[in-house]
Amino acid sequence: MVIDLTLPLRDRLDSFPGDAPTRIRQVHTLARNGYTNSVLSTGMHSGTHIDGSQHLTDDSRFMEDLPPERFIGRGCVLNAAGGTTHRSTEGI
Ligand SMILES: [Zn+2]
Repeated sequence: MVIDLTLPLRDRLDSFPGDAPTRIRQVHTLARNGYTNSVLSTGMHSGTHIDGSQHLTDDSRFMEDLPPERFIGRGCVLNAAGGTTHRSTEGI
């Protein structure tokens, strides 16, 4: 079974702290323009994404150079519904 864990792309999708937020703004409507269209503005580290090797290394390959099968593998499900305990590591 393959389970797609990708978050839906939506306005104000979570992004990396300090990065510009994801924005989706409708610029044309069916009623006014006869079609719908939106403008998408987002950082590269928003929502569900994969950091390409170029992000932190001098690897010259782009994500499209990698086979999709590389991103499919075994997984597990963790139940975090009971809440979490967060401890700051500042000062350690
Ligand atoms: Zn990232």
